[in-house]
Amino acid sequence: MTDQEYIEKAEQNLIHTYNRYQIVLEKGDGVYLYDVNGKRYLDFMAGIAVYALGYNNKAYNDALKDQIDKLMHTSNLFYSSILGDAAEKLTQASQMDRVFFTNSGTEAIEGAIKLARKYAFLRDGHTDHEIISMNHSFHGRSLGSLSVTGNTHYQEAFKPLIGGVVFAEYNNLESVRSKITDKTCAIIMETVQGEGGIYPATEEFIHGIRKLCDEHDILLICDEIQCGMGRTGTMFAYENYGIKPDIMTCAKALGCGVPVGAFGATKEVAKAFVPGDHGTTYGGNPFVLAAVSKVFDLFEEQKILENVKEVSAYLEEKLDALKDKYDFIIDRRGKGLMQGLECSIPVGTIIQKGLDNGLILVNAGTNIIRFVPPLTITKSHVDEMITLIEKCF
Ligand SMILES: *Cc1c(COP(=O)(O)O)cnc(C)c1O
Repeated sequence: MTDQEYIEKAEQNLIHTYNRYQIVLEKGDGVYLYDVNGKRYLDFMAGIAVYALGYNNKAYNDALKDQIDKLMHTSNLFYSSILGDAAEKLTQASQMDRVFFTNSGTEAIEGAIKLARKYAFLRDGHTDHEIISMNHSFHGRSLGSLSVTGNTHYQEAFKPLIGGVVFAEYNNLESVRSKITDKTCAIIMETVQGEGGIYPATEEFIHGIRKLCDEHDILLICDEIQCGMGRTGTMFAYENYGIKPDIMTCAKALGCGVPVGAFGATKEVAKAFVPGDHGTTYGGNPFVLAAVSKVFDLFEEQKILENVKEVSAYLEEKLDALKDKYDFIIDRRGKGLMQGLECSIPVGTIIQKGLDNGLILVNAGTNIIRFVPPLTITKSHVDEMITLIEKCF
């Protein structure tokens, strides 16, 4: 089949919710993807921060194949032999006491919202609690997550959304403080805003939020779906700041390609949920947990965090040099291997030219080029990316 035939077959049968690039991908290896014509792409998008270990990682693939031959799925009414192992690795990595596995990021957010509301309900019996979320945040597309997503453009046509959500300015402590009422049960924030334009929380902001939460008995929910799992050089981005949320959400790189997410909580918060309060058919089935368990092993074996620290310092240096060299680049910001170049012009053309030249990048908003490569990249991949991106400038 030709590219055009693959594309037409898909478009004739799908609901058109994406303007997809005119590329049909077939396979991946390391930090490269290949399309059906065998054209190679250096991938600085990693399936949007999913493929942390790179493509075609043999140990990962073998672990999944083994699990397929044993058991793909069990009801959550049973234990599986991998369940405790994966849960223990996630609690240890996240410093949370208890976790719940979901199928996606948005479902992790739904669970986090429900848990925060239940916790507050048990405390005061009220059913009109409020959640403070941030402008320009992104938490997912299902209705609860959409309700806490600070982007009116995504929300407008789908109202009414869930109630009791108020928005404050990210990295503006006074703005958050002014929204606190005696109904506030939680503050939800990305530790590093992703879709909203790669904005890391400032030290002052996140410490201030933690303090406000402690003073007012409000739960802090850190959305680590994009910035978690090693991307910023620590397993979870909040570790960079030396704070701990009461509830955290993760997904994307948690399974490095299989659909799995999770929310975790402190022991005290987690016990607000009792059997019947929350559930999922697929969430945390043996197949995806074989991936999660192996991902944590491989992070250690392949010294992923060390690599992120080393290569990200180099990437920052190279991106800063681009910023100095090109007038249209206004800012470089980010943490670890989650970086953004803010431009004075829309970046769509640059990203398209990247594809033509064999480089995959992704935007964050109209004006920001986002860099979220596999965490296995080396300095020479950074050099290769810089050469390719300069061709597009
Ligand atoms: C991607 C993302 C989500 C949504 O995750 P899905 O798996 O697409 O539902 C939520 N929050 C953040 C910060 C994200 O980057």
